[in-house]
Amino acid sequence: MSLALSIKNLKKTYKGGTVALKGVDLEIKEGGFYALLGPNGAGKTTIIGVVTGLVNKTEGKIEVFGVDIDKNHDKAKTFMGVVPQEININIFEKCINIMIDQAGYYGIPRNISINRAEELLKMLGLYDKKDQPSQNLSGGMKRRLMIARALMHQPKLLILDEPTAGVDVELRRGMWDFLKKINAEGTTILLTTHYLEEAEQLCERAAIINKGEIVAEGAMEELVSKHPSGKLEEVFLELTK
Ligand code: ADP
Repeated sequence: MSLALSIKNLKKTYKGGTVALKGVDLEIKEGGFYALLGPNGAGKTTIIGVVTGLVNKTEGKIEVFGVDIDKNHDKAKTFMGVVPQEININIFEKCINIMIDQAGYYGIPRNISINRAEELLKMLGLYDKKDQPSQNLSGGMKRRLMIARALMHQPKLLILDEPTAGVDVELRRGMWDFLKKINAEGTTILLTTHYLEEAEQLCERAAIINKGEIVAEGAMEELVSKHPSGKLEEVFLELTK
């Protein structure tokens, strides 16, 4: 099976000297549903930033579906959809236009993007809000809009940084179902989350990162079996204390 994401020896030292990543290796198979777990400041967002081109790495090699991000960043970018941690949608813009503008960045013609945008808004329960400015949406709705927006160019790899932060339990379940569905249909998913239960429910594999280093990696059953309780939370606490 081919790899959706390959990260080799990734190192990052920020200006000012903070060493965020100390040589991270990570592989995500095509079709996988993968969790990147770790306490605050462990380096998760830095990894996502480097993979998506927002953060310059200090050292290392990254391939997205076999494309080296240093050699062909534009191509690698077309494979990825990204949902950042911070809400970053134009609050004055109508939801439907946020979606269509996004498609425009990827050269998708309007006649295609309108249908696709409507379809995605329906799938994420936002269709009745399509003509409203995004400032009228609740926090959870804004997150769903960001997921919908990230899918406009039909990426093969969806990367989500804390997608359910601040989303209430019921909506969170709905979001899980949606992510499970698109994963079953072929989209590879990488997510970071603070909710270990979420990772356990959704992801077949995970890496635990602490202070810029991967301290455990493997299939979810394998990881939870590292502690007699069989709970991911215990494994996590043990490895990151
Ligand atoms: P996480 O996403 O796991 O919470 P981050 O990747 O955000 O961790 O941060 C890893 C480390 O890098 C932390 O020590 C953080 O303070 C530092 N860091 C993150 N972004 C910057 C930045 N832009 N400049 C300097 N240090 C940063």
